[in-house]
Amino acid sequence: MSLLLGCIADDFTGATDLAGMLVRAGMRTVQMIGVPQDPLPHDVDAVVIALKSRTTPPQEAVEESLAALNWLRDAGCRQFYFKYCSTFDSTDQGNIGPVTDALMDALGTDFTIACPAFPENKRTIFKGYLFVGDELLSESGMRNHPLTPMTDANLVRVLQRQTRRKVGLIGHDVVVRGAVAISAHIDTLKAGGVQIAIVDAVSNDDLMRIGVALDGMPLVTAGSGIALGLPQNFRKAGLLDEGAVADTLDVPQGLRAVISGSCSVATNAQVAHFIDSGRPAFAIDPLRLADGQDLVAMALDWAEPLLADGPPLIYATAAPESVKAVQSRLGAERAGQLVEHALAAIAKGLVERGVRQLLVAGGETSGAVVQALGVNGLHIGPQIDPGVPWTTTLGEKPLALALKSGNFGTVDFFTKAWSVLQ
Ligand code: ADP
Repeated sequence: MSLLLGCIADDFTGATDLAGMLVRAGMRTVQMIGVPQDPLPHDVDAVVIALKSRTTPPQEAVEESLAALNWLRDAGCRQFYFKYCSTFDSTDQGNIGPVTDALMDALGTDFTIACPAFPENKRTIFKGYLFVGDELLSESGMRNHPLTPMTDANLVRVLQRQTRRKVGLIGHDVVVRGAVAISAHIDTLKAGGVQIAIVDAVSNDDLMRIGVALDGMPLVTAGSGIALGLPQNFRKAGLLDEGAVADTLDVPQGLRAVISGSCSVATNAQVAHFIDSGRPAFAIDPLRLADGQDLVAMALDWAEPLLADGPPLIYATAAPESVKAVQSRLGAERAGQLVEHALAAIAKGLVERGVRQLLVAGGETSGAVVQALGVNGLHIGPQIDPGVPWTTTLGEKPLALALKSGNFGTVDFFTKAWSVLQ
């Protein structure tokens, strides 16, 4: 059977999160790093192209997204999905609005939804307001994100500042009434000139109802949650191979390590938990990198003798005050790049020293690591926590990778993830 769903994700961990969700819902999925150069493996229902377009200049993000769309169209995909973060990470310049506009133009479609909801990870939308757990997005840790601070929780407003199209809302009162009501509301919105609708969702049941209403919509824009509701449409149409097991992996055996460049609340807690439980950890200080100190070599020398005894952690993860202090000295972009570059070089060094199972925390960080390792694609396997599956790299000498988006995972993530591989 041919490819059904073609997805474009704006960062690496986001792509893995989406791919994991599709696998869970029964679609065999590969994730490709950047627009693919090589042919895909056979027996694949969905492909997720991972870009690094969340924080690039909007024009670059648009160009890359259109190149990905062209590849997916040529591959025969029937429906397209633009995936962004469940905390709607963006700025007033983009890139969610500009990329959505460009994809809609290219597909010649006059309506799409925008729904970052991911209830299992406590990202819910009600009356257009995004909640992270019990807090509004703008009151959550996301207000301090190093690159995309989110200070407004009203997604209709946030998206309207990024797009020339009119943004509307499909409220929860409509969503609970099911797919027919949702479709009817879409018609009403369209008649009023709305071309993109934020959709309320507070539970997986909501996602399933919304999913039914998305059958045949050429473009869907969303976090990964919405992906739970799409495979049912393909299944109903007889397009999914029912016998196929979507999440099996051949796990490469070897040494283990953890690398963390995320400064999210969740990752800070995971790093603290790992250290508090007596495991070895090495901190990367951006100011020392800026001074020209060779922390890459130091970290690798430190890690090498420890590898045989279980995973060591190398981290730049820091509390918001510390990140702010670093950024005011170096600038946010330079600080981010210095850290990403160093962590990517460390990942490469660890693999050269026999690491075959690697856990990486942070979206941008994972992007940099995967690029340094020359990975061009991933088979998606079983889930560790919602949004984070284990994967294996395509090609010779495969590596097991878990790429964790900053906010995801339980506090003991760095220690418990390994049991899923056994
Ligand atoms: P998340 O998934 O939590 O958003 P990312 O890796 O995408 O994590 O983004 C975190 C950014 O912060 C990266 O660019 C990273 O290099 C940068 N960073 C990491 N540690 C520090 C630090 N101590 N000071 C300043 N910036 C940092």
